Amino acid sequence: MKPFLAGSNIDTLTQWCLERKLPKFRSKQLANWLYEQVEIDPDAMLNLPQNMRTLLKEDFHAPGTQISEIVSSGDGVEKLLLTLHDGECIEMVVIPAEERLTFCLSTQVGCPVGCYFCASGKNGLTRNLSCGEIIEEFMLGTKRAGFPDNLVFMGIGEGMLNVEQLFPALEILTSPDGFGMSPRRITVSTSGYVPGMLKFAELKKEYNLAVSLHAVSDDIRAKLIPARVRFSIAEILKAADLCRDANNRQYTLEYTMIAGINDDLDSARKLAQIAISHHAKINLIPYNATDGDFRRPERTVIENFENEIKSAGARVTRRVERGGKKSAACGQLRISRMKK
Ligand code: SAH
Ligand code: SF4
Repeated sequence: MKPFLAGSNIDTLTQWCLERKLPKFRSKQLANWLYEQVEIDPDAMLNLPQNMRTLLKEDFHAPGTQISEIVSSGDGVEKLLLTLHDGECIEMVVIPAEERLTFCLSTQVGCPVGCYFCASGKNGLTRNLSCGEIIEEFMLGTKRAGFPDNLVFMGIGEGMLNVEQLFPALEILTSPDGFGMSPRRITVSTSGYVPGMLKFAELKKEYNLAVSLHAVSDDIRAKLIPARVRFSIAEILKAADLCRDANNRQYTLEYTMIAGINDDLDSARKLAQIAISHHAKINLIPYNATDGDFRRPERTVIENFENEIKSAGARVTRRVERGGKKSAACGQLRISRMKK
């Protein structure tokens, strides 16, 4: 398969120009189109000679991904359904909040982890996104809404199971020869896939890590995450600590709150203790109902849970509920499209 133009870093672009006997400054122009003008389509790169544009289209996928549906909620949040070159779908979310613009990005088509409460993993993994597809996702969002201040990899998929593609994409996003974003503005969320987390620590870059803990004991966690890709809480926290020390960033413990499963005050106290002893912060995510048996806790239960954590002295935030009810949880839009 042809490589994606969007996933090619400056070295690849320079090498390509060399092979195609084009002067070196052309790779600079190309990089400018990609990373400054956010242009994926060679036909729109008007200061490049026609023969170079033809060669680019011959040698690269450019562009491969398209926006096929936009679901807007009144509060400015937009969910974009993206169709990939082979007809598969993913989604990304554009979230403007106060002065900041955040993109929530997908890393895989489907997800092999298959958490029981999550729409993204309902049909397992179809395939990984390539580095170029992750960058195109970013570029399509940027073309629509402008350069984001923050990126969170909390869309469809488990990024730590696709590090071969995700990490080069992070490199293009943060390289001064790429999009030049600060790694401190990028967060990778994981359900706790330890081998991937260990590789993340090896990057030694100031990326943020979010760990989807969801439970304070392995028994409770087993009710939410299937055994095949599940590590113990102790192993996950050990790997997260390694990331914290290597990246020099406090991590976040994400906690999707589900009625009757993990919303009791004893869990709140234990969660606070875990956060304090690992210098981590907590982010509570009230469950968005999909079509399973799980339910979101009552509002007062969520508030009491949050207050219990606060009075134990841990740092806690609650995911702001935006984006409307319809297809609110990531993966739901793709699933409803698949049903059609
Ligand atoms: N696979 C990674 C990143 C994608 S999921 C992970 O699991 O962390 C991002 C976050 O969304 C996770 O914390 C996940 O638990 C949460 N999530 C998924 N489905 C949800 C739902 N229906 N309601 C609330 N949170 C959900
Ligand atoms: Fe996959 Fe994350 Fe959804 Fe679990 S919560 S199925 S790991 S996307």
